[in-house]
Amino acid sequence: MHIGLLNLERKRTKKNYRRIFVAGMEVKLPYIAAVFPEKFDIEIQDEFVTGFSYKPYDIAIISVYTNNASRSYDLATKLRKDKTHVVMIGKHVEAMPEEAMQYADTIVLGELEKGLEKLVKDLESNTIKKVYNEKINKNLSIKQPRWDLYKTNALIEIAGVGTSRGCPRLCNFCNSSGDYRKREIEEVITELIKTKERTSIIAFKDPNFGVDREHYKELMTKIIPLKLNWGAQTDISVFNDEEFLDIAKDAGCLLLEVGLESISKSVRGNYNKMFIPDQYSKLIKNAHKKGIAVRGNFMFGSDNDDINIFDNTVKFAQDLGLELTRFSILVPVPGTQYFTQFQKEGRLLYTNFPQDWKHYNNGQVTFTPKNMTPRELQQGYYHAWKKFYSPTSIIKRLAPKFMNKSMYFTLLENVPSCVINMFRKN
Ligand code: SF4
Repeated sequence: MHIGLLNLERKRTKKNYRRIFVAGMEVKLPYIAAVFPEKFDIEIQDEFVTGFSYKPYDIAIISVYTNNASRSYDLATKLRKDKTHVVMIGKHVEAMPEEAMQYADTIVLGELEKGLEKLVKDLESNTIKKVYNEKINKNLSIKQPRWDLYKTNALIEIAGVGTSRGCPRLCNFCNSSGDYRKREIEEVITELIKTKERTSIIAFKDPNFGVDREHYKELMTKIIPLKLNWGAQTDISVFNDEEFLDIAKDAGCLLLEVGLESISKSVRGNYNKMFIPDQYSKLIKNAHKKGIAVRGNFMFGSDNDDINIFDNTVKFAQDLGLELTRFSILVPVPGTQYFTQFQKEGRLLYTNFPQDWKHYNNGQVTFTPKNMTPRELQQGYYHAWKKFYSPTSIIKRLAPKFMNKSMYFTLLENVPSCVINMFRKN
């Protein structure tokens, strides 16, 4: 039986050169492949990395998130015409199950691998159901990912590894909030040893690598002998923990990514996020002192933001000496408080769903902001990227760190970001 595990980009791209240098290999599809016994003929197509070519399957499992939803639905419609049984999974399916059910034969909600294990059993007895919805348990266990099925042509491969899911924090724009659960450390170590046969560069995919501080310290201590190079997303509170940073460094941490979200105190309150803004400079220096690079991310579009927010944020990020940043525009994704609120207030700019889901990505304005026009927000977002990743800004930020290995690692992103933003048409 031929099974396709598919993940589409928001729009079809011809930018194949992106796949030549660095492949950020997402682990979700290899984890799903591991649920199937070896007798199944499984093919992974992750358009971001492997590219995508259309073909019918016996079963296609499509990973759906909000901004690829309309393309995923189109693909599902075509596949079903070609007699493929379409299964849909993903955050968007969790948030909009009724919508997804119009395009899928089966949807899987709740704890993904558990739902899929049931589906595989039913598949063998030809009794596949319309919906699988498995309860989320406190303990998470995942089979070893099938990296052998994930083919890339890239010079550098970065492998995703998930050691936990969910996050106990309550940030109201984030769809990872809630249901925190983690894997046994030994299970993760086995996976890392196996993954190292392919690449020693790891991106931990935990929404918040640091929630259970002692657990992560134990995990990091145990991976020191593996001599990996890795990065992870965490919250700013771990930057206050010298022991955490020391162990992270010894374990091969090159980069910590943290959501700083906004420089405005009133905005931070709006996001319901825990902040210690007055200490950012000191905290980020703590990581820099250990030789760990920091990506601090900011989001534009809160009701308190006005047109001054863009230059002020870039300056703040440069003053912090961040090696990397990611600017985004607030996206009212379904399932979050913002979607409900903006819908109620009539502020959503695109409401022809599902076609309009493609606009709901963090580089596009999808709502009317309070203190500027949608165009000002969009232009300000481009301006911030250009300014932060200008050649002078890169030199100023990185030159003082020329002795750090982690700085060279961040060049892999600073340089392409500089080139892309120089040629970006607003
Ligand atoms: S801390 Fe990060 S992962 Fe956790 S809910 Fe907030 S934004 Fe999401």
